[in-house]
This record gives sequence, C-alpha cells and structure tokens, in this order.
Amino acid sequence: MYNFDFKKLRAVYIHWPFCPYRCHFCDFIALAGHERFMERYSNSLNLEINKMFDCLSTVQKTEIDSLYIGGGTPSTWPNSLLLDMSVTLNNKLTFSKHAEITIEVNPGAVSEGQFEFLKNIGINRVSIGVQSLDNAVLSGLNRKHTAQDTLKTLNQASLFFENINVDLILGLPGVSEEEWKKIIKTVVFWPIKHISVYFLTVYEKTPLYFGLKTNKFTLPDGDSLVPLYEWTVQELSCYGFNRYEISNFAKEGFESRHNKTYWNRDPYIGIGLGACSFDGKCRLQNKKNLIDYMECLEKGGSQIGFMEQLTEDQIQMERLMLGLRTKDGIEARFIWQNKNAIEVDEKKSLVKELERIGLLEKFDGKIRLTSAGMAVENDIILKLIS
Ligand code: SF4
Repeated sequence: MYNFDFKKLRAVYIHWPFCPYRCHFCDFIALAGHERFMERYSNSLNLEINKMFDCLSTVQKTEIDSLYIGGGTPSTWPNSLLLDMSVTLNNKLTFSKHAEITIEVNPGAVSEGQFEFLKNIGINRVSIGVQSLDNAVLSGLNRKHTAQDTLKTLNQASLFFENINVDLILGLPGVSEEEWKKIIKTVVFWPIKHISVYFLTVYEKTPLYFGLKTNKFTLPDGDSLVPLYEWTVQELSCYGFNRYEISNFAKEGFESRHNKTYWNRDPYIGIGLGACSFDGKCRLQNKKNLIDYMECLEKGGSQIGFMEQLTEDQIQMERLMLGLRTKDGIEARFIWQNKNAIEVDEKKSLVKELERIGLLEKFDGKIRLTSAGMAVENDIILKLIS
C-alpha cells in the first residue's frame, strides 16, 4: 500500500456537492435536489477530517496556508453544520497567520447576513460564480439567478470581504462579442481583486452537449474567441488585473495561493465527495457516489475510490502542461528530459521555431508562452509533449 507523503502539506480542499439546481454545462461533482442528505454528509466530512489528519504524524503537520471550500454551492451549507466542520478542522490543523481561506458562493444562493457569519468563522476570500450578466443566457443554462442577484450578492460580500473573485465563462451560447465586452467593461469597476475567465468546455452527456446536438444551443464561432480572449487580457490589464495563468487575473498581491498549489504540483489534501489528494507522486480520489462515500466513513471503511501512482513521464508531462499555463513558465529542460538524442534535437528545434513565430519566449532562465501562445496553449502543449 502506498504511503502518502504530506511533509510539505500547505493546502486543503473541502468539497460541498449540493446545489440548488444543475446548470446545463456542469460536469462537476454536484447534486441538485439532495438537500435531505446535507446533515449526514456534513457529519461524514467531519469523520473524514478526523481520520485524514489523525493519519498524519506530528512531523507531517505543518501550517496550512490555503483552505478552499468549493462545490457544488458551498453557500447552501447550513451555518450550524459549516460551523461544526470549521471547529473540527481547526482542532486538527494549524493555519498560518495569513492563510488564504476561500469559499465559493453563487448569486441568489447566499442569504443576507451569511457573509458576516462566513467572515466570523475565518473565511477571508469569496469566489462568486457570476458566469454571465445576460439574464436570458443564464436562464437558458438553467442558472436560477439574474444579473441583479449578482450585483446584490457582490454588494453584500464587499461589506465584509476585500478579497473577492468572480468567475466568468467565455464562449457561452448566446453571448455575442459585444455582450462579452460589455460584461468585462462592467466587472473591471466592481470591488473585486481577482477574475477567473474560463473557456466554455462542452462535456459529454450534459444538457448543453445534447442541446448543441439538437440545435437548441449554438456556440459562438470558435475562431472569434481567440481574439476576444486576447482583447479580454488587454482590457483587464488596463484596470490592473494582470494575467498570472491562462484563466486567472489578479490585482497586485491577490494571486490565489490555492490555485498556485495545483499549478506548482504542491501537495494538498481534498476532503469530501470525489475530492482529490496529491503528494507530488501519487493522486487519490474519494468515492464519487454520495451514499457510498457516507456509508464507508460511517462504517469506518475507506472513502478512497481511486489511486494512481504517477510515472516519471507523467510527472514530467504534468509539470510541462501546468507550468506553461502560468506566467512563470518552466525550465526548458523539462521539455526534453528523458528523451533520446534525436528527440532532444527535435524538441529543441520545435522550441526555437515556436520562439521565432512569437508563441514562446525566454524569461528569467525559463521559457513561457507569449500572449499569442497562451491563446493557443492547447495546440502548443500537444506539440511539445507528442
Ligand atoms: S452551481 Fe456550479 S457546481 Fe452547481 S451545477 Fe451549477 S456550475 Fe455546477
């Protein structure tokens, strides 16, 4: 049995899978209409927290620098149960003085006064799932909130939190170029420090996937999204939101520490349904079936559903794929490490060519994607790892 090595553990993720509705594009581990299980699930989380952190020896217990409560919609977590979990966690872990503690909230699914409670239990960063400001688009994707709800949530959050992120999706059906630009020109004036802009991914078997097949939805022209993304990067930087990863933009001093854990491949522990843990060499994932997950913990069994020990090649590939998404880039040797002499020459020529056409650049002894390269990151990474 593999022994996890969490000596450098600095980050913890907690998953709350419950949502008041299911968005048509969503592929996350999210459950709508399962509110009756909230209390039992919350108790299971406490069992898992006790079990996981009791397993770590005293030597392995370090200060936690980042806690992320994601979902699902964690703002639907009843206050008393969330408080229980927070107490359980604080009994087991020590947080660093300036730890980043984030919770995701959805407009319309967070009650008035809840932000004060969240602040009181130690949350210091809020991430709001805005996605779009077009009510017809939101409703077409089964999101039960409006742009007005978003503004209300934002105003309430800003009374208690300085560090606020908003998530937006680029490429949603029904969002024209003009509409997208209007959204960006609006959010840059909001009292926020961080913006995540994700390209829409169409996952198989989602209502969006089937809706596209039956022409219920039409996606914007893919070719128009690259220049629109580049426009977005420029526009955001004019207002001090600097890109530090392909999808992430922050005001100075507000880059997300939790995000960086994943890109740097630092160790983290994930607690909850389907949550992943990682120690740099091995990744494990909790069971993804709600009843299965809860029963295993209640009966003292293992909640782990999947474990994968990475090969050196896989580690290399991950380093490259994740590192190239960031403004810090990677050491060039990661591209040709473990290759034979012919392959090394091929990769070196490829890197030179990508530099020549302006998609890669040398920076601080490393290489990274240029702005143009970031817009076609997938294609470049595929070439580099093939
Ligand atoms: S609110 Fe978020 S997690 Fe829940 S269904 Fe929608 S996209 Fe998925």
